[in-house]
Amino acid sequence: MEEITALRERMAHITAINQATAVLGWDQQTYMPAGGGQARADQLEALSGIGHQLLTASETETLILRAEKAVGSLDPDSDEFAFVRVARRDYDQAAKLPESLVKELASVTTLAHEHWAAARSHSNFAEFSPWLSRIVELVRKVAEAIGYTDRPYDALLDQYEPGMKTADVEQMYQSIGPQIAELVKKIVEQPGRSVTDLVLRRDYDTDKQRQFGEHVVHALGFDFQRGRQDVAVHPFCTSFSHNDVRITTRYEKNWLPAALFGSMHETGHALYELGVAERYDRNVLEGGTSLGVHESQSRLWENLVGRSHAFWKHYYGDLQALFPESLSDTDLDTFYRSINAVSPSLIRVEADEVTYNLHTLIRFEIENELIEGRLEVKDAPEVWNSLYEKYLGIRPPDDAHGILQDVHWSGGGIGYFPTYTIGNILSVQWYKEAERSLGVTFADQIEHGDFEGLRTWLTENIYQWGRKYEPKDLVKRVTGRTMDTAPYLEYLTTKYSAIYEL
Ligand code: ZN
Repeated sequence: MEEITALRERMAHITAINQATAVLGWDQQTYMPAGGGQARADQLEALSGIGHQLLTASETETLILRAEKAVGSLDPDSDEFAFVRVARRDYDQAAKLPESLVKELASVTTLAHEHWAAARSHSNFAEFSPWLSRIVELVRKVAEAIGYTDRPYDALLDQYEPGMKTADVEQMYQSIGPQIAELVKKIVEQPGRSVTDLVLRRDYDTDKQRQFGEHVVHALGFDFQRGRQDVAVHPFCTSFSHNDVRITTRYEKNWLPAALFGSMHETGHALYELGVAERYDRNVLEGGTSLGVHESQSRLWENLVGRSHAFWKHYYGDLQALFPESLSDTDLDTFYRSINAVSPSLIRVEADEVTYNLHTLIRFEIENELIEGRLEVKDAPEVWNSLYEKYLGIRPPDDAHGILQDVHWSGGGIGYFPTYTIGNILSVQWYKEAERSLGVTFADQIEHGDFEGLRTWLTENIYQWGRKYEPKDLVKRVTGRTMDTAPYLEYLTTKYSAIYEL
């Protein structure tokens, strides 16, 4: 169909520019010397500007309108139909934002990032407060420009999680919040609990960590012919094409989980990207359908696989052999408990599986109040601290351990945090559905170092489709239901009741 071909060529061209931008971004965070910063910022701005102009140009809209007419008679489940729908979505998302707003947001967030970093190092929210006020104001304008029917936060959330509404997020947290808080309470109040993560803080030579980590991610299915793993301060995964997906990790001599579980996490993201059907290469259908679904994959491989007893039944001997001085006095069960130790803490990125969602819940509540104008930025730290007390029973001693800890808001990323919890919930829903439909227990395979059955099911049911199905449709298609918190709650309760003998 000629109309589709013309649009596909246009979008492939734009995709190529975006992928080149991603290469520069990856290099910036991995190998670029500090001196390259200013030139790199200029290069990134120039290239992303070109990408944005091409996407929002009237020629693109003309091609989309023609393609929409052409696919009108096609099966809505066809690749062509989905391609045009997603191209329309990308165009609308970009074109709805006035260029002046995009530029203002870019320059304000660049400066805000520096002020946030300085404020955090001085642990002084007042330094960041005027910048956050500016950002909230601009992000509200973004919500207005994108448009919404019920709540302004809907428009922001939709950027990361297409089709999800603020009310859905509220319902999600209502359905897990009280049970998780109850579970945390039981764990904390359990007399004489002896689960700690101290063994993970001993000495672990970073070269050996790399050796072990690469061995594991390769076993999980990361293809080093189609990707690389490098070091970055803030680990991430990025994709340049169907055959080139990069992951990064960070090695800490006295904190084994950073690289070990961080690598498995990023591998989950990478397996998703690598598993998208080859026919979507340089097509807007390439990539993950939402941040939440993407996160469901990183969490699944990191937590359901990487923090499972079965996994360590297979790998613990190897790890012990590599680090005899640090692990010879620790048996498998103790090690398993230590990597699953639960402790209410102040810092989200260091949080365990059980308390993690309480951290995102707090951010969601504050963001929503800020955007809907019920909370003023200057009062946010106090609200933050009170919510930590309410949900986690601990109060941050200062702003650095409180409201200044995350980078997201300084970059304008409001509406993002709930996707972490969506990921947690979906990770278990997919896993249980896979076991049910295949009639297997993956632990039986994982304890033999066999991940193929799980990976193949995920590829066939989720990865291959890329962005073809919106998250809600994908969940329905794969599990026959909407997003369901019950399997997740059951998983947490079962796993942690056993670990803590509740
Ligand atoms: Zn992630």
